[in-house]
Amino acid sequence: MDTISLFIQLNSIIFGLVIGSFLSVCIYRIPLGRSIAIGPDEEEEVEPGLEALPSLPTQQFIDGKPVSILFPPRSFCPACRAQLPWFHNVPLFSWLLLRGRCGLCQAPISARYPIVELMSAFFCWLSFFHFGFTPTAFVIYGLCATLIVISFIDIDYFIIPNVITFPGIALGLATATANQFFSWFAYPCATGFVDGILGSLLGAGFLWLMAEGYFRIQGRVGMGLGDVKLLAFLGAFLGVWGSFYTIFIGSLVGSVVGIMMILVGGKKMSHHLPFGPYLAAGAILYMFSHTEWLRWIVALIVPLPIN
Ligand SMILES: [Zn+2]
Repeated sequence: MDTISLFIQLNSIIFGLVIGSFLSVCIYRIPLGRSIAIGPDEEEEVEPGLEALPSLPTQQFIDGKPVSILFPPRSFCPACRAQLPWFHNVPLFSWLLLRGRCGLCQAPISARYPIVELMSAFFCWLSFFHFGFTPTAFVIYGLCATLIVISFIDIDYFIIPNVITFPGIALGLATATANQFFSWFAYPCATGFVDGILGSLLGAGFLWLMAEGYFRIQGRVGMGLGDVKLLAFLGAFLGVWGSFYTIFIGSLVGSVVGIMMILVGGKKMSHHLPFGPYLAAGAILYMFSHTEWLRWIVALIVPLPIN
């Protein structure tokens, strides 16, 4: 292995850890205050059949100012509200050195923080290892990072915030359009505008039909519109193949895990599962696998002249 490759790999891990620290901030702060900010007819509103789900956290204030992504600029301890000095906030290492406790008030700090940082570092390393130091690697890692945030928020509160998916759709269509003219982003990015827009519309449309069908048959909501919008976002970036791969593999992984939870965990069939993390898993598997046979099967189902 040459020196440059080693340099890029090492730096991608450090970069991934630092971004991972920011992702934890997003996971914690994006849902804050949403319980009052959501109007009666907004999509994030809890749908019928989902009333028993965890309620959204109320807005928090520090020194009288509402907590947001930008405020306070530094991380703070959820227990004592003190902003952390930088040496208490070094990704991964601070958590290990302080043995999972706040360095100021000794309150336990969730292991999720280092886990998110490690996941981010792993996908950052994988992106640059797999795609080289290319624009494609930045897009793919960006998608992975966003999917980490979406997955944990969905696990916590069963919502996928529009504040992530809507700009995501726009950004995805922008990269697809850039590819139309400049071919900046290689496979698995959408090859052009048509691929991006079809991926977005067909993927979201198919998932919406699934959700609607389930609601008609079962009489309760199995899948929220957040999942549909997530697919619109992923389809814009990954095109038609990526969109359908994500749905099929996501559903497959979700079913396997669901059945295992029923068999091993004694959960009931009606136990609600957030679908976002499985769609995220499907998309991530698509991004890092060159599975021609799966594209071939999808081509049979969706006979479109793309790629
Ligand atoms: Zn503290």
